[in-house]
Amino acid sequence: MPPCAAAPDTYLDERLNDPSVTMIGTVRSLHRQCAGCPVMFDCLYRAVVEVDISGYVACTTESERTAMRRQLGIEVAQPSLAPFGAPRVGGGPVSHEAVIAARQAHPKDTCQQLAERLGCSTSTIKRHLRRERQKAATAVDDATSESRPTLEQVLDAFDQLSTAHVA
Ligand code: SF4
Repeated sequence: MPPCAAAPDTYLDERLNDPSVTMIGTVRSLHRQCAGCPVMFDCLYRAVVEVDISGYVACTTESERTAMRRQLGIEVAQPSLAPFGAPRVGGGPVSHEAVIAARQAHPKDTCQQLAERLGCSTSTIKRHLRRERQKAATAVDDATSESRPTLEQVLDAFDQLSTAHVA
């Protein structure tokens, strides 16, 4: 089991994206855990190239992954917001796609704000974000598209982050 699976809420803490002095210790701790994770390279590749997921992933914050994509000249496809963008009216469980689409549309929102948008509980939001993270933690598919960067290119972009070697 990867370390993030044991403490998913810690990795999803929104304060990690723009860590203040009080969060530096947490970032270093998570960095060490990811650096020692057996699926670190696959996880990093997937989080940068394939899925724009939330939270601290593979030694990177969301902002750092955005910077890496800019450097690599790639964009991760956004899910269609059409069926999911509006708040729910009426009952029924909120779908996984709706939660992920809301996160994509409102990346700065807290889990509580997303829950208010979708009319569900904060724990529902966290559960779906965890599920998305678990997808990213599985082995990455082979990079079949020629337009995709190679793992080596992704690692080069990672090495240029100022935080790449903290710990
Ligand atoms: S976020 Fe990725 S690299 Fe970090 S512990 Fe989880 S699976 Fe491993």
